[in-house]
Amino acid sequence: MNLRILLASSELFPYSKTGGLADMVAALAKSLARSGQRVGVVTPLYAGLPRKFPEIQRANLHLALPLGPETVTAEVWSTSPAERLTVYFIDQPAFYQRACLYVENGVEYADNAERFVFLSKCVARLAQELPWQPQILHVHDWHVALSALFVRSERDRAGQGSHAPATCLTIHNVAFQGSYPAQKYALTNLPWDYFTPDGAEFYGRLNALKAGICHADFVTTVSPRYAREITTETFGCGLDAVLRARQAKLVGILNGVDYDEWDPERDACLPQRFSSADLTGKAANKAALQKELGLPVVASTPLFGTISRLTDQKGMDIELAALEEMLPAGFQFVLLGSGASDFEQAYQVLARRYPRQVAARTGYDHPLAHRIEGGCDFYLMPSKFEPCGLNQMYSLRYGTIPVVRATGGLDDSVVDIVEDRGRANGIKFQEFSAGALAKAIRKALVLYAEPGLLDWYRRNAMAVDCSWGRSTERYAAVYRRLAGR
Ligand code: ADP
Repeated sequence: MNLRILLASSELFPYSKTGGLADMVAALAKSLARSGQRVGVVTPLYAGLPRKFPEIQRANLHLALPLGPETVTAEVWSTSPAERLTVYFIDQPAFYQRACLYVENGVEYADNAERFVFLSKCVARLAQELPWQPQILHVHDWHVALSALFVRSERDRAGQGSHAPATCLTIHNVAFQGSYPAQKYALTNLPWDYFTPDGAEFYGRLNALKAGICHADFVTTVSPRYAREITTETFGCGLDAVLRARQAKLVGILNGVDYDEWDPERDACLPQRFSSADLTGKAANKAALQKELGLPVVASTPLFGTISRLTDQKGMDIELAALEEMLPAGFQFVLLGSGASDFEQAYQVLARRYPRQVAARTGYDHPLAHRIEGGCDFYLMPSKFEPCGLNQMYSLRYGTIPVVRATGGLDDSVVDIVEDRGRANGIKFQEFSAGALAKAIRKALVLYAEPGLLDWYRRNAMAVDCSWGRSTERYAAVYRRLAGR
């Protein structure tokens, strides 16, 4: 059965991206369309997009929606990057033509509630008015989670005659909930009947993610282990009880990797392409990366890398402390990251103290991210929690052995030698501490000193299939169930 699915996300690669959400929605959309489904994606028209992507054109579609006491208008633009796939951009210049997506100079935009309640309304409206009549509306994260509530209210209003689609919400990170003072609920223009403990209200505030969890017909998250974790107090960020109560409609589906973007055999960002059959290109990439970073070009020095948002979630504090402890062992390390300025400074200081061993690049640099994956020997990802994580899966493909904390999607996608000797492709540690990470780095150094074993790990890693096929099939199964309700 071919399905008609409308996805929605506040960021979408290659048009906008701050993290894995943009990659995931883009890859899922492409993969669903490839498998024969009719797919649309709704996302904001951020500053400069029509100039950078001239194929994005006005769609001759106008929206005028109430937002509290006002009426806000938007124009829809669109492009069709693949067969059966259309991306719809919401053009509301006052809301979306900004220097950044959500946060500027470390400060959240003061009108984020307005910006994303409006986006959620546009999504719900398009879901019901697009001529190809989506059967499923699949929204991603808190920014568009309220769409599920808008669809629910429409169903309640229209009763049996409703053409509203079935709804699915994917939680990419339960730590981000879109929590605002209760008076912001007025922006929804819905009756206050929905502002209840089993709806949009959470401890007296509007909580967009909770509204989505309570009102979507189905909820998914991005790895099986994270689906279990978020029902516990430690990982649920306050919503664990809400999620426990809905466990029957919650599943974890591991994200895949878009191998059109991340494949060392085809990667245009790499100085040299390579495959598991011939790793000489990987050695050349390492030398080029060492040179680019101003580090001594020494093939025998192990090179570790991290590409990350610099936040507590990603374990940057334990990484800094573990590097302090382990750098005297003589390896090199490169960081590419942006985020909290104290972390940015701490890595810069480390790079100044160890100029022959550490390079720190702050800011967002997509091609450098590819070169780091291509050139490093090991990839460090010591997250406190990690819903899915993409870089460890990119690392596997690039033969860059992931060293990860066993949490969420990291645990689901990396195999340690103690779990399975034959399939070992990475190093895992359990305790969230600098000491445990330092020990894992020590294991990596031991592995590096055994070229035969390292080669075995690399081949195992590169052979893992993280393509979207299987995950897409799981989502399609969810959609089919919902469409057949
Ligand atoms: P999250 O979504 O929590 O940030 P993921 O591992 O799921 O983490 O996805 C992060 C994505 O963002 C990856 O594609 C990674 O390469 C990319 N990324 C993160 N920081 C940077 C950066 N400073 N420059 C380039 N790419 C980055």
